[in-house]
Amino acid sequence: MNGPDIGEEIRRRGFRRWYERQLVESHAYLVTAFLSLILLLAGFEAMDALRGAPLYYVAVFGIAAAAGTLMWVAWQRFTALLARAELFAESAGCPRCSAWGKFDVLAAEPVAADDPPEAGRPHWVRVCCRKCGERWRLG
Ligand SMILES: [Zn+2]
Repeated sequence: MNGPDIGEEIRRRGFRRWYERQLVESHAYLVTAFLSLILLLAGFEAMDALRGAPLYYVAVFGIAAAAGTLMWVAWQRFTALLARAELFAESAGCPRCSAWGKFDVLAAEPVAADDPPEAGRPHWVRVCCRKCGERWRLG
């Protein structure tokens, strides 16, 4: 699943709200990673208790493996989204008039349709200040 075009999203909501949503979204992935970890540990626990039954063992192992994979992906997304949100927020102030987050997106790193969120693309966007017209790059 890929989010909408970043330039479009910032144009529609404004940078501040985009940034806040990125924080919320990345932390949702953190919670997912944490819940997966609990599921994973519960899976190991159950495996231990049911050592005698081979089929059950396989099923529980499958769940634990899925939980482990989910945890890893969710963790990757959390770190990628949070790092990008912070990076963009750091340079969101206009270098000339220092208006924060008041810009239009001119261009962004191309994002392929099958790029997962954990790829963190776009890693950069070119923006133009709405107040003074200065152009600079985030990321
Ligand atoms: Zn400016």
